[in-house]
Amino acid sequence: MRILLALVVAFGLLVATVDYGQEKKVEPESVADWRKDPVCRAVYAGVLEGLYRDAVSDKIVANIIGKKTSRKDKKTMRERMKRSFVLDCPLCEPTFEAFLTYQNRKAESLGGDRELAQKTLPGLGAQWKKTLLSDATRQRLEGLSLLVERWVRVKLDSSSEIKPAEIQAWKNRVHQRSTEGKGKLISLIQDGNDYKQWSAYWGCAACNGSTLAAEAWKIKP
Ligand SMILES: [Zn+2]
Repeated sequence: MRILLALVVAFGLLVATVDYGQEKKVEPESVADWRKDPVCRAVYAGVLEGLYRDAVSDKIVANIIGKKTSRKDKKTMRERMKRSFVLDCPLCEPTFEAFLTYQNRKAESLGGDRELAQKTLPGLGAQWKKTLLSDATRQRLEGLSLLVERWVRVKLDSSSEIKPAEIQAWKNRVHQRSTEGKGKLISLIQDGNDYKQWSAYWGCAACNGSTLAAEAWKIKP
């Protein structure tokens, strides 16, 4: 029995060592500026296109990133970001920026009268509104994650620049960025009060959505 136990422990240690080695190998290099990373740029473009395509209402946008502010300094933006995104996360930053760009769009892009256009465009359905207009962080972020997944999926599937042979590498890169974002969230939960109520599981909506989109991405023959 003792020998068996010793063998189990030894095997466990061996597995742990191997795992550790593999984890070390895939440790993602961090992104200092999301604009320089192709994955982050694709997320930005996919989210912005999705916002226009689904004619997302100003009310929903304001509930995700807060109401428009006249101040656009870094401190104000970081405060606004904290409502639904993880600070310094490489996938949350482009998603937040896409929402901001859309919020600041000119009325002409909706065909003239902004208010009228918002009233007549179909926008997102009732089920989406229920989660995206919620003040409860978890509910809002679960809705946002599904929305990001849907939009990034369209972007990845329709990209003509990414060759089939490059898709697996792209999937890995999305996963790396997401891992980086989760790491940021975990340290924010531990270090401060702003993210105390957040969970590493549902907290990074942009990361969760982008990862699911990348996983569902089919490599075409
Ligand atoms: Zn994130």
